[in-house]
Amino acid sequence: MCRAFFMHRLSKAEPAVPANLLARPDPIVENDPCPQVFAVRGVDHTVKHTLTSWVAAGLLLAAALPPPIWALLSAWPDAGQQTGWRIAGQVIGIAGLHWLLLALILSIRVPRWDIPFGGLLRLWRIHHWLGAASFVALLLHPLLAALARAPDGPAAVLAVLTPAFSHWMIWAGWAGLIAMMAFLAPTFAFFGKPDYRHWKMLHRLSGAAALLGILHALSLATLLPMPAGYVLWLGLGGMAAAALCWRLLFSRLLGRRAYTITAVAPLTDGVVELTLQGPRLDYEPGQFVYLTPFDPELTSGRSEEHPYTLSSAPSEADLRIAIKDLGDATRALMTVKAGSLAAIEGPYGQFLPLASAEPAVWIGGGIGMTPFVSAARSLALAGRGIDAHIIYCANDPSRAYFEEELVTIVAAVDGLRMHAHYFAEEGPLSRTFLEYRIPDLAQRRLLVCGPQPLIDLALKLASAAGIPRSSVATEEFDLL
Ligand SMILES: Cc1cc2nc3c(=O)[nH]c(=O)nc-3n(C[C@H](O)[C@H](O)[C@H](O)COP(=O)(O)OP(=O)(O)OC[C@H]3O[C@@H](n4cnc5c(N)ncnc54)[C@H](O)[C@@H]3O)c2cc1C
Repeated sequence: MCRAFFMHRLSKAEPAVPANLLARPDPIVENDPCPQVFAVRGVDHTVKHTLTSWVAAGLLLAAALPPPIWALLSAWPDAGQQTGWRIAGQVIGIAGLHWLLLALILSIRVPRWDIPFGGLLRLWRIHHWLGAASFVALLLHPLLAALARAPDGPAAVLAVLTPAFSHWMIWAGWAGLIAMMAFLAPTFAFFGKPDYRHWKMLHRLSGAAALLGILHALSLATLLPMPAGYVLWLGLGGMAAAALCWRLLFSRLLGRRAYTITAVAPLTDGVVELTLQGPRLDYEPGQFVYLTPFDPELTSGRSEEHPYTLSSAPSEADLRIAIKDLGDATRALMTVKAGSLAAIEGPYGQFLPLASAEPAVWIGGGIGMTPFVSAARSLALAGRGIDAHIIYCANDPSRAYFEEELVTIVAAVDGLRMHAHYFAEEGPLSRTFLEYRIPDLAQRRLLVCGPQPLIDLALKLASAAGIPRSSVATEEFDLL
């Protein structure tokens, strides 16, 4: 429902502050801005994390390029004996397989390993782009190899593309490419938005695609001098296999910890907040965990892991997770039994620390308020101040289920202010709404969490208000 509300486009010329907006008692809850800025866990993370994510991006680029460059250089001395198309075909095939293996290695999920990359969602975005680049390269690979034989006529081209069955290593390459098409088709949403479970199951074919690609390369990627080529493919293949084994097997045994759901508090229709008791978890506001519930009475999603942001403050003894009914598994959790067991894996992500020491605006839509609720709860418990405005986006007051608690927190936390925006009353969030309440909007860091249309709208508003893109961080509750 929320999604539809924020679909409205930002109008080009916005009117001055509407009369109803001035007349209406403002749902602003304010304190005096506090010069003492609260930094989550007392550190200014901004510079540190920008640097580490640049270093990680640099390292990744450094890891992505050497094999194709190496292949190109080794082809150079006898380029006269090989056609340009043939060299290009091999180099691009080597690049494609290398990127596929890197993407597989990056799909690993180990708490805190995602931090240098700017959080798990960003790490998986890199994984996604590497996978896409690899797919394009591997599609071009047979086409270029065939083009190399074009001067010899169509029969020669056909022989490259469909050789005799005895050339099993070429057929291994084709099988790998077909496996890749099968698992990537849902990712590219060729047939509409995929079902998450099917998408995940099909994604397991990536292991088979990589294995077939390695078999193909071991016998045919002659541009890489052997045995160095063997070392490269077997080394990367081994790392990718280790990443897959960790993901499918060991993370379940070693990465998860047992908790008991001790309370299930309904917040409004279709939203509950779970309290979980178990081992102490070291996390920061805005981070998320994978929750696997084991309640035998769950009608769906039992023993299935789903990501949720922690809504509790890190200093609380128990964990809290607010869950909105958005599908089968989340709907079933509305009636999960207190006393049942669950596993928690994490924490992951790095959404809030990026902006923790700067004047900020936190825009949260619906269940996307959870990172800010966690931050507000930690501020209140720590008795610290912050220079931040919360923009609480909801359809109407009945859907602003954290508002009452946040009003109390805002009254107690120096420099924290809150402005509720109800779509049903005011239409889409607008620049006028923001600038009227936050005159120094352009000088602030913007953090947005909510449905994609709200994120898109907030990005447009930020750009119109002159906030540089580098000062905006977004988090969408969707991995696809
Ligand atoms: C980083 C992050 C933080 C989140 N925090 C919260 C939160 O605090 N509270 C909350 O209510 N929701 C949160 N979500 C969303 C929550 O994970 C999904 O609503 C839930 O997984 C949907 O499952 P379903 O079976 O009920 O719905 P479905 O209809 O099966 O799925 C709805 C959408 O959720 C995603 N999804 C489904 N299953 C999974 C899965 N196992 N793993 C990952 N994504 C999946 C898919 O994109 C799918 O399109 C968060 C998501 C992410 C990525």
